[in-house]
Amino acid sequence: MAQQTYDVAVIGGGIAGCASAYYLARRGLRAILLEKGEIAGEQSGRNWGFVRQQGRDPREIPLMIECNRMWRELSKELEADLEWRQGGLIYLAENEKRIADYEAWLEHARDYQLDSRLLSATQATAMLPGMTGTWAGALHTPSDGQADPVKTTQAFAAAARRQGVEVVTGATVEEILTGGGEVIGLRTEHGEIRARKILVAAGVWTSRFLRALRVELPQLYVKATVLRTNRAPEHSQAGIWCNHIGFRQRRDGSFNIAPGRSADLYLTPDSLRYLRDFWPAFKAQSGDIKLLIGRETWDSLGVVLGGPKALTRQMKRHRVLDPEPNAKSAGRALAEFKKLLPAMAGLHIESSWAGMIEATPDEIPVLDAVPGFNGLYVATGFSGHGFGMGPITGRIMAELIAEAHVSLDLSAFRFTRFAEAKPLSLGDAV
Ligand SMILES: Cc1cc2nc3c(=O)[nH]c(=O)nc-3n(C[C@H](O)[C@H](O)[C@H](O)COP(=O)(O)OP(=O)(O)OC[C@H]3O[C@@H](n4cnc5c(N)ncnc54)[C@H](O)[C@@H]3O)c2cc1C
Repeated sequence: MAQQTYDVAVIGGGIAGCASAYYLARRGLRAILLEKGEIAGEQSGRNWGFVRQQGRDPREIPLMIECNRMWRELSKELEADLEWRQGGLIYLAENEKRIADYEAWLEHARDYQLDSRLLSATQATAMLPGMTGTWAGALHTPSDGQADPVKTTQAFAAAARRQGVEVVTGATVEEILTGGGEVIGLRTEHGEIRARKILVAAGVWTSRFLRALRVELPQLYVKATVLRTNRAPEHSQAGIWCNHIGFRQRRDGSFNIAPGRSADLYLTPDSLRYLRDFWPAFKAQSGDIKLLIGRETWDSLGVVLGGPKALTRQMKRHRVLDPEPNAKSAGRALAEFKKLLPAMAGLHIESSWAGMIEATPDEIPVLDAVPGFNGLYVATGFSGHGFGMGPITGRIMAELIAEAHVSLDLSAFRFTRFAEAKPLSLGDAV
């Protein structure tokens, strides 16, 4: 790492960090990106690859409409094959209640002239040859798409490099250095660097990392498992979500399949610390979340007892956080998939993996400056849907950090919204 002052240092080589570094450099800022492990090693390389406007929280829809436009040009812009295809997204509805939920969401889509629409059961099954089951209909957005997570994130990092960004892997940031209420630089495991501004895009590590500055950001994480099958003849170009599984067929014919709802939540000191913030989300999704005690529990206790030094040790130990996939839920997801598509009965699991998904209490990200420190910014809390949003995240964070005109309204993504939230009454917590 060269001894000089950077305009911006970006912490985290996931899609949020890599895209931000790229767009910052496009704006002429001198940037460095620091990643403790590998580019796309964590969530950004482990996700399903859905790029969707469909089903988004209404506050995210304007960002995703703009992002969808960006995706269409992205392979050209980044000079890379991203396996992008605009094959649409289909959510099958197992009953009328689900149809009513989709109808309610469509009200928001109509406000933005999205091409989302309800399909009858006949229309839906006609689009998905060989699909069994009884469906009440489906929600379909033809303009949605999919892409390869690793290729896309690495393409952003490579394009950032070509624009002059120093991209450094194997470089854990141990501390953000501040003075007089401003950020002045970073201490990494390889030495200190000076930077006028810092963007923390550190995925699941963000909240714990910011705590050393006494910055409080409610964020928890859950483990989710994905599997990949062997190759099959082409079925559909659409991403599909139904009956508790999600899947898409990749360009080489293999399927990415995942249990759609279930997630493993490890009991950690943070799950108690942020219980109040997350209570409404826990209540709404209690049937889908399995509470576990495991390595994550003991690791997090270690951080509570050992402070920032213990966190640094863990970040180095988990250069690439690679949790054990849940073999049971992978097996169940494949069985469910074969029930839906009997013609695929011969497929088997070729590989499986898990990723830790980080979330905020309201399940939308924080894209903002951090109050209390001039020059400190954060992009995190994507709550399981930040891959598709990656390009727009990078572009708007670059606008914000460059103090340029911010082209979209970011007020819903402000840092302070959790502190502003009304305290829960005792009745809410029972
Ligand atoms: C199983 C699964 C399925 C998903 N499916 C989808 C999907 O279909 N569509 C979608 O849009 N999203 C999906 N997501 C969510 C999506 O992957 C994430 O929202 C997105 O990748 C987050 O990107 P990020 O850059 O914020 O974080 P990450 O990709 O987690 O990157 C953060 C990086 O920061 C690094 N880091 C942390 N601390 C430090 C430090 N102190 N010093 C240096 N480096 C540090 C980490 O090593 C890591 O590489 C899914 C996620 C998972 C796990």
